[in-house]
Amino acid sequence: MTDTNQPSTPRYMLSDVDFDEAEERAVLDVIRSKWLSQGPRTAEFEKRFAAFTGAKFALATSNCTTSLHLAMLAAGVGPGDEVIVPSLSFVATANCVLYVGATPVFAEIESLERPLISPDSVARVMSPKTKAIVPMHYAGYPCDIAGMRAIAPRRPLRIIEDAAHSVGSRVDGRMLGTIGQIGCYSFFANKNLPAGEGGMVTTDDPGLFEDMKLRRSHGMTSLSWDRMKGHAFSYDVVGVGYNFRMPELTAAVGIVQLEKLERHNRERDRVFGEYVKRLIGHPKLTIPFAQEAAPGARHLMPVVLGESVDRKAFMQALREAGIQTSIHYPPIHRFSHYARLAGGTPKPMPLTEAYAARVVTLPFHPALSDSDVATICGEIARALG
Ligand SMILES: *Cc1c(COP(=O)(O)O)cnc(C)c1O
Repeated sequence: MTDTNQPSTPRYMLSDVDFDEAEERAVLDVIRSKWLSQGPRTAEFEKRFAAFTGAKFALATSNCTTSLHLAMLAAGVGPGDEVIVPSLSFVATANCVLYVGATPVFAEIESLERPLISPDSVARVMSPKTKAIVPMHYAGYPCDIAGMRAIAPRRPLRIIEDAAHSVGSRVDGRMLGTIGQIGCYSFFANKNLPAGEGGMVTTDDPGLFEDMKLRRSHGMTSLSWDRMKGHAFSYDVVGVGYNFRMPELTAAVGIVQLEKLERHNRERDRVFGEYVKRLIGHPKLTIPFAQEAAPGARHLMPVVLGESVDRKAFMQALREAGIQTSIHYPPIHRFSHYARLAGGTPKPMPLTEAYAARVVTLPFHPALSDSDVATICGEIARALG
């Protein structure tokens, strides 16, 4: 991390990217090739991503939000259906349900130490209208999908995984995103596999794959790349589709970042270990997941402040020390739009609300050195008094 005189740029950023000549060369190659959208590099990225995750099919998209949208459509979710989602997530996890005219139903987290969607809470809000569940593997940790399946063993519930935080995480030897019917991934600039924007969906089901592939590009039966190569001369439109395609520039960066992913995820393990070593046992904070086995990928470094700590003052003190922090996440069910949808009074969700009111996420990326973490933890101790 370089120092800077600009007071607006923190010395320790929440996230950072590791780009070098490899990404520069990959992007230059695309520009020189003059083929800029969904072509050979996108196909190569999909092939490698499928091999990496072990999924039968991988389909590149414009971002994880459109991935989730495609997944909802392919799963046949529509008006009258309910989809159970965590309230503790990025708003896209719930918005995708609204896109298809269905109703998001919010479930609680397990605990402040395991802020993952709780199977017990899912069981409580499940109804005959429930069509799908969207577990979001917060910070890279696996939600209890087996627990959710056990709730309704005889119902054909769709599990759509929001794996935006967890590319490279495993449970019982399987990659997260490949446990339910469809996995959705993000390559946004601050995610573990950053390509600017971009996303992916994975599935083992050929029917779901074909459905999502058609809808990704206007419902058209052939792509411009195929026509350019002489594989097709015209096309039909067989359903309502969208433009959710990935640019070749994005795919080119994604391929290089996929090669670096395992190394970056190991570095994140190291950074997490350094934070835990220095912060564990502090009387004014707890570290979620500190007792859990390493999942493979970690995306966030959350700490939960004690009830007596003024979070705003804490974050302000860190900001003055050049340390960027954030809140992951303001709970979705309390946003104005979602409160309105709930008739003005959202149902209380005590655990999610307590977590959201007390969590702070700390700088977390592969380039943080052990001494950076030591400095940050020193400032944290000072800010906590
Ligand atoms: C980032 C994120 C998304 C959205 O991803 P985009 O690629 O920016 O559309 C969805 N869900 C979660 C949990 C995320 O963190």
